[in-house]
Amino acid sequence: MNLTLDAKIPSGPLEQKWQKHKATMKLVSPANKRKYSVIVVGSGLAGASAAASFGELGYKVKCFCFQDSPRRAHSIAAQGGINAAKNYQNDGDSVYRLFYDTIKGGDFRAREANVYRLAELSVNIIDQCVAQGVPFAREYGGLLSNRSFGGAQVSRTFYAKGQTGQQLLLGAYAALNRQIHDRTVEMHTSTEMLDLIISDGRCRGVVTRNLRTGAISSHVADAVVLATGGYSNVFFLSTSAKGCNVTSIWRAYRHGAGMANPCFTQIHPTSIPVSGEYQSKLTLMSESLRNDGRVWVPKNKGDKRDPREIPESERDYYLERRYPSFGNLSPRDIASRAAKERCDAGFGVGPMGLGVYLDFADAISRLGKTAIEARYGNLFDMYANITGEDPYSTPMRIYPAPHYTMGGLWVDYNLMTTIPGLFAAGEANFSDHGANRLGASALMQGLADGYFVIPYTIGDYLATQKPGGMSTEHPDVRAAEERVNKRVATFLSMNGRKPVDHYHRLLGRLMWDKCGMSRTEAGLKEALQRIPEMRDEFYKNAFVGGSGADLNQELEKAGRVADFFEFAELMCLDALNRNESCGGHFREEYQTEDGEALRNDQDYCYSAVWSQKTDGSGHEVTKEPLEFENIKLATRSYK
Ligand SMILES: Cc1cc2nc3c(=O)[nH]c(=O)nc-3n(C[C@H](O)[C@H](O)[C@H](O)COP(=O)(O)OP(=O)(O)OC[C@H]3O[C@@H](n4cnc5c(N)ncnc54)[C@H](O)[C@@H]3O)c2cc1C
Repeated sequence: MNLTLDAKIPSGPLEQKWQKHKATMKLVSPANKRKYSVIVVGSGLAGASAAASFGELGYKVKCFCFQDSPRRAHSIAAQGGINAAKNYQNDGDSVYRLFYDTIKGGDFRAREANVYRLAELSVNIIDQCVAQGVPFAREYGGLLSNRSFGGAQVSRTFYAKGQTGQQLLLGAYAALNRQIHDRTVEMHTSTEMLDLIISDGRCRGVVTRNLRTGAISSHVADAVVLATGGYSNVFFLSTSAKGCNVTSIWRAYRHGAGMANPCFTQIHPTSIPVSGEYQSKLTLMSESLRNDGRVWVPKNKGDKRDPREIPESERDYYLERRYPSFGNLSPRDIASRAAKERCDAGFGVGPMGLGVYLDFADAISRLGKTAIEARYGNLFDMYANITGEDPYSTPMRIYPAPHYTMGGLWVDYNLMTTIPGLFAAGEANFSDHGANRLGASALMQGLADGYFVIPYTIGDYLATQKPGGMSTEHPDVRAAEERVNKRVATFLSMNGRKPVDHYHRLLGRLMWDKCGMSRTEAGLKEALQRIPEMRDEFYKNAFVGGSGADLNQELEKAGRVADFFEFAELMCLDALNRNESCGGHFREEYQTEDGEALRNDQDYCYSAVWSQKTDGSGHEVTKEPLEFENIKLATRSYK
């Protein structure tokens, strides 16, 4: 289906677009709001903030999550911080600079208007969260404290030790709970959305499965918001929570929603390295650590000495060497590739040679152990618990790992997908980060979407719709339920010999090798051939077992892995289509002499928006051209 894309970017100067849009959007009057119902799938930062805001506005809201509490959404894992252009440090920050850094950080593959709005709203988020009681770190005098993140030369990251996501989520959860108490929000935990209800070309609800009882139910509404997070787990090993998946946005895609830039995935430079064949999860060491930690490898290949015995003269601080202006705070895509380059060249450390050092010795001698403990104590404890090594006395070992996905459902300026009535917020959409997200900007985007964008834009849509009106007995609802029942039955009948994870692991390894940190035409073509073969094997040989009538985690996994198999193909197609390197998308064929990404603005300055061909024979791409009117398209440099 060829998509018609209208990004609905308001006219006028960049700085006035959002204000003007808000002033001219249609409104739903307070008395009418309670006649409209809205479904929010997801209760992470984006979903919880959106559901709480809708409830406060007076809409009837249903919110769903698959965890047993909204507090367990993956957002809770976020460690390092949240950006905002408050300029508390008086170091030259501004809304414009945050906008500029984000566009440049994303390698000029994001929409100017969306990114500017994000930077503009960043300041409101901090005020909102402080009012909720989020315990951000403070200076001695009481002012909120900041630190730096990659890709910026100012300190604009607000944080709560290494638990920023947890504290922000507790704030959003408290706001959500208030609405649950006031009965404006009906919360459905341990419930997974398995399909959408589309009727007359509009999204009218969702079909869910209760993960404890297996009950399949339909829920209708006037609009649906998907705030279901990212799909890094397509790589099997990632820093995301084990349950993170692509199901909700893939179901939307199967109904005709455009999927934008699915190959734009972020590999984070500082994860604890893989240590064995049967590992199922990777642990992030926050980017904030690069404020004080220095990244290095030995200058001599295969140097097996204890790092503390390697003298300064025999260390290569390769980020400081290659990128003197940004040094250890180079953006993630660049820092990850630089680590891979050193390891591939034989300078890696640790048992498998796939590691580099992150060293705090200088910072500890300069600031003292107590100061470092105050900044990063819980991260250091986590590292010590996992590796058995003390990072206060010996450098951490780190290596890049899948972490975040910039691609997602295509949305217009109002965060509406190509299906009317279906919105996407947070990591589930593609809106703001282009080809590489800057650290501490995901929490900012999720909360901007949920607290400040979608509460306005959904009203603009609802005001054009008659409230209510769809019965759960409608044939389109019945048909959606039927599809879900059939899928569940298919998975339950899988009676092979291998656990579902076996196939997920195989897919993940393939994706990491062929569509991970670096990609080639030949590798992507090979993956495109292997994925359908693996998918067939999965359906033939995987074993699910148990019943559909109670808690069955193999059944849950089977559905998610089946969707990853389909989605992975689209990721590879997208990566193959983009014959350039930009941000996290590094095609080996397109690089400069010194190994940097070589963009091709003439042919690829667009968002690639995929849809299924009408005859079901594959996927096709529609291009949303990107225009840079306020920032000059330039080669990205951090040197
Ligand atoms: C280890 C780690 C550390 C990070 N640290 C930072 C940081 O310091 N700063 C920063 O800005 N970003 C950070 N990020 C990124 C950031 O945490 C995420 O991008 C962000 O939290 C995503 O929020 P979200 O609300 O979009 O999705 P999530 O928090 O992932 O929430 C998704 C929600 O959707 C629900 N859901 C999903 N599918 C379904 C379904 N089919 N049916 C029902 N419910 C469903 C889940 O139950 C959950 O409630 C970090 C990421 C990781 C992995």
